[in-house]
Amino acid sequence: MQNHAVVLGAGMSGLSAARVLERFFEKITVLDRDDLPEGPTARAGVPQARHVHALVTRGAQELDALFPGFLAEYEAKGAHALDVPYDGAILRTFGWQQPMRSGCTVYLASRDLTESIVRRRLREGGRVEILPRTEATGLYVRPDAPGRAAGVLVVQRGGGAHLTLPADLVVDASGRSSKALSWLASLGAEVPREEVVDCYSGYSSRWYEAPEALPPDHWWKLVWLDPSPQEHQFVGGVLFPVEGRRWILTLVGYAKQYPPSDEEGFFRMLGELRSPILQRMAELGRPISPVYSSRANQNRLRRFDQLAKPLPGFVAVSDSVCTFNPMYGQGMTVATLSARALESTLTRVSLGDPGFERVFFGSQQRALRDAWNLATSADMRFPGTKSDLPAPSRFAAFFGDSILRTMNHDAEVLRRVMPVYYMLKSTRSLFEPDLAARILLGGAVDAAAARLHPTPLSPTPPPRPEN
Ligand SMILES: Cc1cc2nc3c(=O)[nH]c(=O)nc-3n(C[C@H](O)[C@H](O)[C@H](O)COP(=O)(O)OP(=O)(O)OC[C@H]3O[C@@H](n4cnc5c(N)ncnc54)[C@H](O)[C@@H]3O)c2cc1C
Repeated sequence: MQNHAVVLGAGMSGLSAARVLERFFEKITVLDRDDLPEGPTARAGVPQARHVHALVTRGAQELDALFPGFLAEYEAKGAHALDVPYDGAILRTFGWQQPMRSGCTVYLASRDLTESIVRRRLREGGRVEILPRTEATGLYVRPDAPGRAAGVLVVQRGGGAHLTLPADLVVDASGRSSKALSWLASLGAEVPREEVVDCYSGYSSRWYEAPEALPPDHWWKLVWLDPSPQEHQFVGGVLFPVEGRRWILTLVGYAKQYPPSDEEGFFRMLGELRSPILQRMAELGRPISPVYSSRANQNRLRRFDQLAKPLPGFVAVSDSVCTFNPMYGQGMTVATLSARALESTLTRVSLGDPGFERVFFGSQQRALRDAWNLATSADMRFPGTKSDLPAPSRFAAFFGDSILRTMNHDAEVLRRVMPVYYMLKSTRSLFEPDLAARILLGGAVDAAAARLHPTPLSPTPPPRPEN
């Protein structure tokens, strides 16, 4: 067993990483610059918690495996377990989803609830020390061994002491605001290059108290209205139920069509979407928060996996390496996959071995590659997207559109595509010959029918069969 691992950041990735490190280190310290109270409380370090956070199927399964009993507690505390295409009113780019079961469960709750359960379970394990109000300010290297991270420099917030925490392994889980690149540069270590795909998207979210009951024809438990670049509509919106009989309504604008951040403008924009149902839902609820805005929606991948000589003793996980447009609900799941990559690397390679860091970064890159490809290819559909990657071929664009068209009404396609979106299956499975043929044929027929017999979009979703 190694002596000491220090994890920077007590968000979903830091907590997940700390859990797997318990198997390999005598002592694990997780530090965070925020206060970390017991319950689900908002904190400055995770401003994204004010916005919708879906925990997709793979992430839910991984969290339950890392923290046994997590899902039971999550549901008991009010997380909603839903089969999205069956329980939701879903308007995709090419029309309404026929309500059908996909067999995949997605959990909707506040991000604060999700994190607070994981944090408490980690604390209860008793092996991990969590230090709140402690900010990492740099990496520590010993003067006699400058080629290796030997710990982290920290400052206790509120005018506290500057300290050095020695460590055998430093894990950066400080999220999208990570300063690791400048720390590495200041040590003369190799710095990864970045790939960015930015469709200039933004969120505006408002929380509502949900009514005791909905009108009988409102069968849906969530609402999802995609934008439609084809119709030059670049703003969509969602309603997610969360614990405590509350809803979060989020407007999502693409291609610099940022949604309004004032209350009046927010409500007005709800009525300008492709369906009026989101505005009707807002009228049924009672607003309980201001409108919160975020433009932290860029896809950004730091290619640590391509470093020839990564700094020994230092690794970075999850958002500090790769951020996604959050619309695809991948970040928390990738946090668990990064933790699993760390676990499998520590199982196979000794920490002191040359190459440990390269093996880890390669393994993490393979774990997040599908999520990255899905998010970036979807964002490249929007005009004006800034991209360091080549645009998808015409075939890839047609295939992507055909998936969106066919899953709306073909139960077989839906049942086989949703596990890919929810990271249970690889994107390679989309190219199984029978499925690919079904998608391409269905997409071509659907596109031709839409051209020959254009039908106006129904303002409300189709009824849901009871089954
Ligand atoms: C608007 C928005 C909506 C999202 N929606 C979803 C969703 O629906 N589903 C989903 O799965 N994911 C979603 N995500 C992504 C998700 O929030 C993150 O990917 C996921 O939580 C993993 O993040 P993380 O733990 O790496 O970083 P974070 O959650 O950002 O945590 C980083 C932690 O590090 C701390 N920290 C930062 N710097 C320092 C420092 N120098 N010293 C000490 N501590 C430090 C911070 O206080 C914070 O606690 C969304 C993101 C955004 C921006």
